[in-house]
Amino acid sequence: MIVLTAKGALTGKNLEYFPNPAIVVDGGKIVDIVPSDSRKGGSYISSGEHIDLKDLTLMPGMIDSHAHLAMDARTEGHLMKMNDPEARQTIRAVRNVKDDIKAGITGLRCLGDKYYIDVEMRDFGAPDFPWMSVSGIGMKGIHGHGYVGMSFSGAEEFRRQARENIYRKVNWLKIFITPGTPPTGGAMTPWYMTREEVRAVTDEAKSQGILTTAHCIGGTGLRYVAEEGIDTIEHCYWVTDEDIDLIIKHDKIVSFTSGIMLDPGREPMCPEAQNVKVRATREESFRRMSKLVQAHPKFIIGSDAYHAMLWREVMYMRQLGMDNLESLKGVTVYPGELYGNHVGSLESGYVADIIGVSGDPVEDASALSDPVFVMHNGKRFV
Ligand SMILES: [Zn+2]
Repeated sequence: MIVLTAKGALTGKNLEYFPNPAIVVDGGKIVDIVPSDSRKGGSYISSGEHIDLKDLTLMPGMIDSHAHLAMDARTEGHLMKMNDPEARQTIRAVRNVKDDIKAGITGLRCLGDKYYIDVEMRDFGAPDFPWMSVSGIGMKGIHGHGYVGMSFSGAEEFRRQARENIYRKVNWLKIFITPGTPPTGGAMTPWYMTREEVRAVTDEAKSQGILTTAHCIGGTGLRYVAEEGIDTIEHCYWVTDEDIDLIIKHDKIVSFTSGIMLDPGREPMCPEAQNVKVRATREESFRRMSKLVQAHPKFIIGSDAYHAMLWREVMYMRQLGMDNLESLKGVTVYPGELYGNHVGSLESGYVADIIGVSGDPVEDASALSDPVFVMHNGKRFV
């Protein structure tokens, strides 16, 4: 039994502030949270291994809801490296997830890696890997976007790959329906899959009780995925008012990855042709995403392969007008509830994925950038 004490903790589904907690961990799970100065707290402290984290604030380990294990958006030319040989991609993936865990990211939703690297790493499950919810091979149209995806044409081809993914025991099916960056000069947003192709994928997922997600920035593609039963919609950089209404009407979960559009720090790692488009549409994209935030959809937050940098996404969500506590729930409680298995919250019976940060993560997102303490499955890493 390990007993953690600290200045405070963000507990439960509402991330309620709990002053001077004693968090009791046993068998990889949180078994109790009590005031450290209570009688019960005192007896826990004297009977277990006590780790006093003094001035830190404890909170659930963060969950990155849009990862690609073998892609490292911190490096130049990372998109092209998705054509690297399998061994090289695997080595990179291992390094990336170890960086994630050191940065307090204890869970990942992987949205496309080649060679089923994500499935293999989830099942290998080393103690210093975050837990993973995976989608295997991302599926895209032959003429469509998606560096990490593979190409298919026609409902039967998509269905076949969906089944192959399911055979490999993925948790999600991932499709790419629109371009990566918004169109410039007022052009319409193209889409690269038909309704029938989308439906083939959602039917296969429903038949096995698993979830689906779509890379989709907006437009007709968004209408197809909302109406054909895709569960989460990635990015949404270029949503129209009509798209926002569809998201709310169909109760879709938005997976925000706004840093790709809003963070100039990511440009040096991306192709110049893409940067030109991103710069030309950044302001308008900010306006559209802010409007989406104001509509209060269900949501989760991801970095899109910017490993160890998820805290920056929390910062951008606040700039887009999201409430501070809500933005923290987007990397803890909300994805925890969606992926199941008692993660993403500090409460009894939940997995002991716990981080400790200096400063106040509710007031200042940069407090998340360098956790001083990281526990995953009840084991201490940092
Ligand atoms: Zn992605």
